[in-house]
Amino acid sequence: LALPGVQQLSPYVPGKPVDELARELGLPVADIVKLASNENPLGPSPAALDAIQAALPELTRYPDGNGFKLKQALSAHYRVGTDMLVLGNGSNDILELVARAFVSPRDEVLFSAHAFAVYPLVTQAIGARPVVVPAREWGHDLTAMADAITPATKLIFIANPNNPTGTWVERDELDAFLARVPEQVLVVLDEAYTEYVTDADFPDGLDYLRKYPNVLVSRTFSKAYGLAALRIGFAVCQPVIADVLNRVRQPFNANSLALAAATAALSDREYLEVSRTVNQQGMAQMEAGLRHLGLSWIPSRGNFIAVDLGREAGPVYQALLHAGVIVRPVAGYGMPQHLRVSIGLAEENQRFLLALEQVLAGE
Ligand code: PMP
Repeated sequence: LALPGVQQLSPYVPGKPVDELARELGLPVADIVKLASNENPLGPSPAALDAIQAALPELTRYPDGNGFKLKQALSAHYRVGTDMLVLGNGSNDILELVARAFVSPRDEVLFSAHAFAVYPLVTQAIGARPVVVPAREWGHDLTAMADAITPATKLIFIANPNNPTGTWVERDELDAFLARVPEQVLVVLDEAYTEYVTDADFPDGLDYLRKYPNVLVSRTFSKAYGLAALRIGFAVCQPVIADVLNRVRQPFNANSLALAAATAALSDREYLEVSRTVNQQGMAQMEAGLRHLGLSWIPSRGNFIAVDLGREAGPVYQALLHAGVIVRPVAGYGMPQHLRVSIGLAEENQRFLLALEQVLAGE
């Protein structure tokens, strides 16, 4: 029978698939708008699609288990040694590897309230103790998090920006926090959305690696790089940590199509720039639309926004589904009055805003 921590787990709830809703509503798939999983609405970079095509004839072979080419590309791009890189089957894989390799049952794992759902999941799965630190204005309270460190603390997760709130921590807050963390405590800076951030002085986790050898930065190709389906992410950390993670990971955890696509995507800077611009414009459109509806939201640095409905969000989520619009309820994150909406293309955002207006007017 399952470990006690595992028995208490709730499964991760993914966004409702488009084809499932289309079938339920008897609508063509093209009529459904999905703004539920923080995906890049532009689709993948054409360079990534070409690389996938080129890799198809090799499907019968195992992938390069060391991800040589992608690591070379990441190493050149981020100016870190290839021995500081670990590839993952999505960055979720990295988060799990860290917990599995470094945390024993009874150790404490610290993270914020309203933080990414996979932190409690990987903590409880190994029988460790999750310590949830109350948030400040929905975001990480790094002072409270540093205060919550005990001799049993082994690992701290910080998502910057955080999902599902979109909140972020500033450079001086992070500086002060890291200075207070004992060196035997590992700090994961989960930067899944960092490519969307445009603020010049936003902290870059990679800048902390030299000063704090206990920091690991986790990144992904699922968001701004538009490759969520392929499951490819990576960690950047000191070689001693990377070595441990490379020992515990599955031998072929990053697949061939993902390796090829990610390598190509990394070099397509124009696509990334367009993705950022589309997101910025979409965010402005979303904020203007919500303001028009008299709603408030949590300011976000990601490619999504948590909208405060001022009432239970579940029924609004259901009514939006009936209108063919899929967003994400976040009651499971302790946010029963919010809906998380990904920023889509202009017409998708418009569909959502119109549907929301109609749903709210109909009540
Ligand atoms: N971290 C955060 C904060 C996320 O929101 C997500 C995706 N929902 C991930 C990590 C994991 O993404 P992936 O496994 O697709 O890289």
